[in-house]
Amino acid sequence: MDRPTVRLPLHGRCLCGAINYRLNGAPLLVYVCHCHDCQTRSGSAFSLNILIQTADLTVSGSVNAARRTTPKGREVEENTCPVCGTFMLAHAVAAPDYTSLRAGTLDDASWAIPIAQAYVSSAIPWAVIPGVPQLIRGGFDYAAMSEAWRATAPPFAET
Ligand SMILES: [Zn+2]
Ligand SMILES: [Zn+2]
Repeated sequence: MDRPTVRLPLHGRCLCGAINYRLNGAPLLVYVCHCHDCQTRSGSAFSLNILIQTADLTVSGSVNAARRTTPKGREVEENTCPVCGTFMLAHAVAAPDYTSLRAGTLDDASWAIPIAQAYVSSAIPWAVIPGVPQLIRGGFDYAAMSEAWRATAPPFAET
């Protein structure tokens, strides 16, 4: 299936506009997370996450940084807007070369189709997405997921 080319860079911002970012390279992976932390933080049913290379990201504005431990026991740093509180970015402290971007902060996330959904065991039942593979606990292989996602993703190209 041919999908229209997505033009780089991609742009995103927090709700109040104090934090803006630009994504200069193609994303690596898009997935949904149904874990309770994602539900709590978003105030919604799940999070839609885009994994990128940190080097491809340019952030303008000074984000808040807070550390916490995920349900999987990883220590992560999470970035929010200090003015409006929008949650935008996160990375594992042990893997700073990769950043997880919250899809809803992009100006246009229409291309961001998830390749998998994690923590379905804690999903709100109606929110389990038909046709999107479910990750079983411990089956979180970023490299394999990224390869699968890129095989179906639209082409990304500089304008
Ligand atoms: Zn803001
Ligand atoms: Zn989660």
